[in-house]
Parts: sequence; structure tokens; C-alpha cells
Amino acid sequence: MFAPGAGFDYHCIPYRDTDLLGADMSHRDMNQATSCVHAGVRKDNTFNAVITPIYATSTFAFEAPGKTKGHDYSRTSNPTRSALEECLAALEGGARATATSTGMAAEATILHLLPPGSHVITGNDIYGGTYRLFSQILSQRALSFSFVNMRDLDEVRAAWTPETRAVWIETPSNPLLNLVDIAAVSQIAKEHGAWSIVDNTFLSPIFQQPFALGADVVVHSTTKYLNGHSDIVGGAVISKSEELGVEVAAMVNNLGTCCSPFDAWLVLRGIKTLPLRMKQHEANAMRLAEYLDAHPEVERVYYPGLPHHPQHELARRQMSGFGGMLSFDIKGGAPRAFEVIEKLKLFAFAESLGGVESLIEHPDTMSHASMTEEARRAGGISPSNVRISVGIEDVEDLVKDLEQAFGS
Ligand SMILES: *Cc1c(COP(=O)(O)O)cnc(C)c1O
Repeated sequence: MFAPGAGFDYHCIPYRDTDLLGADMSHRDMNQATSCVHAGVRKDNTFNAVITPIYATSTFAFEAPGKTKGHDYSRTSNPTRSALEECLAALEGGARATATSTGMAAEATILHLLPPGSHVITGNDIYGGTYRLFSQILSQRALSFSFVNMRDLDEVRAAWTPETRAVWIETPSNPLLNLVDIAAVSQIAKEHGAWSIVDNTFLSPIFQQPFALGADVVVHSTTKYLNGHSDIVGGAVISKSEELGVEVAAMVNNLGTCCSPFDAWLVLRGIKTLPLRMKQHEANAMRLAEYLDAHPEVERVYYPGLPHHPQHELARRQMSGFGGMLSFDIKGGAPRAFEVIEKLKLFAFAESLGGVESLIEHPDTMSHASMTEEARRAGGISPSNVRISVGIEDVEDLVKDLEQAFGS
């Protein structure tokens, strides 16, 4: 497989396999919900705090020349951030994770490991900010990108060049919930010695395990489900191999894209309830998808859990849950969409996703406005499209709110 650079001389603290509040139990022996509560949580030797403290410090004193307790400067590493990183690595089943200041910082960091001239193949319906980073920033510098319909494996193969060093997979996509076959695309990448990078933000490790499907790198916007409470922005890069994980940690140190201790602490707290939240997001999303599917004002619902979703079979195969995101096309286009959205009382009219509260937005003018109109249409995003991040409220209250907003 393609390996970046000549390798950095970079010190990463090793993950402990034991020392979980004194328990002699490796994270590898824990099931996921147990890892959510326990993985990475550091024993506080001073007061025996059960929860990882927030180490709000920029620097750490040396005990002697060359001798620290594992940390020397918080851009390089910080105990609170290390706790989160160990937890994320355990949840994704990767060797090493690095927590970043945002999801975009995670993306920029991993792409800095590609040599100049590298070509990356990705979808034509990826997250708007990712599209902007690729098409407007990185394309003007050292990298080039092909935006293709990744549901079609022939298109992926046809886009290949001798310089292709990575495929960038986002599945399910945003806002149309198209799926990419991670195993199939990762296999193509493997045959060419390229990386398979998966943005796993939409499902979280609870519902999708990219490494088990052949991916080499997983990125997250922890802003979304992992934190889950809409009160920070954050990101992460998780690597299947220890070597690449160390390169990523070194690049975060070089670029300064690290996550702050306080934000890391909030994400770590959020993760403790991740499995419970994901279950409720999914149950609520399914109920709303079925409600909207039967609604006379709705043209089409996009949700992988609906049997008529064109990739429902793939969803059942590659995901262990359908997630909490859905979108729909409303009859009457944008004017009617805004009329309904503005009448809603419980749903906040906002971008972002993955929090406990339900959000609704208009991709064409909001989350995906950074794409050109041509790119939006090519990706199938129309002015009639409305996206919902389904929260964990009582779903019948959500249905009632939609009913009154539609005016039926
Ligand atoms: C939000 C999001 C990002 C960007 O993350 P930030 O934390 O906002 O920087 C990347 N990918 C997906 C799928 C997202 O939803």
C-alpha cells in the first residue's frame, strides 16, 4: 500500500491494554457499548476521579532532561485528548485515532499526507464543505480530484489515473442518502495500492464499521453524532495501521489541527450514550420516513431504511442500522418547503446534524450552497429537497409538529 513520506521520528504514547480503573481487561475484549463507557477513560491517580479530568494546560513539566510523564506540550498530546483518541480507536476497531479541532481539520490533515500531484477519486454528492475543500482549495495546490457517481463501480474504475492515491468515500451521502459499497470500492483501491478513506460521520461506528469492510482510514466530524449534543465542533482521523496512525498524529502536531482538551472531554462524555442515542435516532427516523412517504404533499423520501430505497439491500448488508438522517422532495418546490419549515415549532431551522434535537434545513440554499448549482443538479439535489436530522424527542410530538406545519 502507498505509504507517505520517509516516516517521521515521532513519539506517540502507547495505548494501554489494561488499567481500566484497575480492571485487567483489554478494550479488545469489550463489546462496543462497554467501550463507549470505558475505553480510554483514565484513572486519576490524584483523587480517583471516575471521569477523565479536563487537563487545561498548554505545557507539562519535565521531571529530568528527556523525561516526562508522557506529555510535554498540548499541541503534541494532552491526556484528555488521548483518552478520547483511545476511545475512538476502540470504537472503530482501528490502531490509532487523532482528535482534531473540526471535521474539516481531520480531512485537511489526512490529505496533507498525500504527496504533491496525487489524484483522489470521490463522490459527486459529498458533504458541501468537503467538496469546497477539494474543488476550491486543494485543487489549486498540490492535489487533483475526480467527482464521480460512486454507486457505479465502472465510473470509479474509469476515473483511475496512474497518480490516484486515494478514494474518498462518504456513505450514506448528504442529503440524498445514496450509499457507496465500501467493500467493493476499497477492494478496487487495494488492487491499485491506494488508500480507501471513509467519512463515517453519518452512521457513527455504532451502525457502520468501515475497517471491517476494507477501509484504511476513517474520518469523522465528531461535531455530529459522536458528540451528539450540538455544543462543540470537532473531528477525528482513525487509522487501521499503527504506522499511518503515527504519521497522522505527527501531521496534526505539524499543522496544529488538534482538538482542545475541553472539546475532547465533551465528545468523550457524549460517546458514553452513543449506542442509546443512535437506536433512538434510527427508530424516530424510520417513523418519520414512513409518515412522510405516505404524505400527499411529499414527492419522494430518501431514507435507506425504506424498502423502496434503491440500495436498501446494500444498506442491510453494510450497515447495522439505518441512521437518523433523511430527506424528502416536497411538491411545490422551494417556496412550499420554506412555508412548511417556517411553521414548524419543534424542529430548529438549522444546518448541522447528529444532535439530540431535531433540525430541518434546505440543502439547495444552506448546507450545499457552497457547491455550484451545476454540481448540485448533477448530484441530484433539487430546490424541492428538505433534509431532516431526526432527534431523540418523542417521535409522536415530531409527527404532530409536521402535521400542523403541512396544515393537514
Ligand atoms: C459536518 C460534516 C463534515 C465537516 O465537519 P465539521 O466538524 O463541520 O468541520 C464532514 N463530513 C460530513 C459528512 C459532515 O456531516
